[in-house]
Amino acid sequence: MLGPVLLAAARSDAIRRAVSAAPVTRPVVDRFVAGERLDQSLTAVRDLADRGLEVTLDHLGEDITDRSEAVRNRDAYLALAEALAGEGLGERAEMSVKLSAFGQALPGGEDIAYGNVLPVVEAAAQAGTTVTLDMEDHTTVDSTLRILSELRGRFPQTGAVVQSYLFRTEEDCHALAGEGSRVRLVKGAYKEPAEVAHQDKREVDRAYVRCLKILMAGKGYPMIGSHDPRMVAITQELARTAGRKIDSYEFQMLYGIREAEQERLAAAGHRMRVYVPYGTDWYGYFMRRLAERPANLAFFLRSLISR
Ligand code: FAD
Repeated sequence: MLGPVLLAAARSDAIRRAVSAAPVTRPVVDRFVAGERLDQSLTAVRDLADRGLEVTLDHLGEDITDRSEAVRNRDAYLALAEALAGEGLGERAEMSVKLSAFGQALPGGEDIAYGNVLPVVEAAAQAGTTVTLDMEDHTTVDSTLRILSELRGRFPQTGAVVQSYLFRTEEDCHALAGEGSRVRLVKGAYKEPAEVAHQDKREVDRAYVRCLKILMAGKGYPMIGSHDPRMVAITQELARTAGRKIDSYEFQMLYGIREAEQERLAAAGHRMRVYVPYGTDWYGYFMRRLAERPANLAFFLRSLISR
């Protein structure tokens, strides 16, 4: 029940200020966010690599309101790509971007976002890595898929994300299941209206399995973004029945969540990629993690009480 309230709070400036200023917030945020600086994110990549894990790095930022912020976010990713190349980490770490941080919601935003993300995708290719376009709320899906299609014309390895809670997603999976197509399947983390999205968690899970079947039967490279043990087991079963090689798909989980399971899957020979967010603009990301799981919220509340 608290989930929708927290998701609404994720978009409130007043609550953002209050939560960000609370001294107890920081240690809880640190569980989900690798740090505020680029060098801290690189340390996380090395630590995870030592444990057999791969990474996708997210420079936190979303919902910007002017063009200069979009340019700053682009530059942060360019610096990241340069650092990955310089440190020889391009094979270990790719990058995840939110187009809202690149100006997608501004007037004329699709062109602005494309103009900002293209140099990042080019820099990623030069660094020996790639970019995945995170998916945000349902109003952005068409625009994000159009930008993806443009980018794939020149950089076919650019990754997409689809969210099983949206009614449209099975169709999107069919469209994105072709040769070479990298697609992360997630359940979806935003507060969406009943006209466009399943509201019942069991329906979201069923839709996830249907999408998984489409992607695993296709010719692309599915990236299973879920901590759900059931989805992990179903993926392994589908891989067996489709005769898929173990390196023709991968699992993805978020930094700080189910770490033992991440290591277990990697040790079993799976490609396991950890989504590592870093940067100062952690509020929206943090609130979505609290909304997802009562245990995450309880952890936060306990830290308030134990002070
Ligand atoms: P849930 O349905 O939340 O939980 C199912 C089961 O998983 C639980 O019952 C429990 O057994 C296990 N589980 C879940 N969390 C935990 C935990 N903390 N500790 C222990 N067990 C746990 N959403 C977007 O909308 N757009 C994106 O671009 C996007 N990118 C993502 C990238 C990655 C790599 C991942 C992992 C998620 C991403 N998400 C994204 C978030 C996603 O949509 C879900 O909100 C989030 O992953 C929670 O759903 P779930 O499938 O992990 O499991």
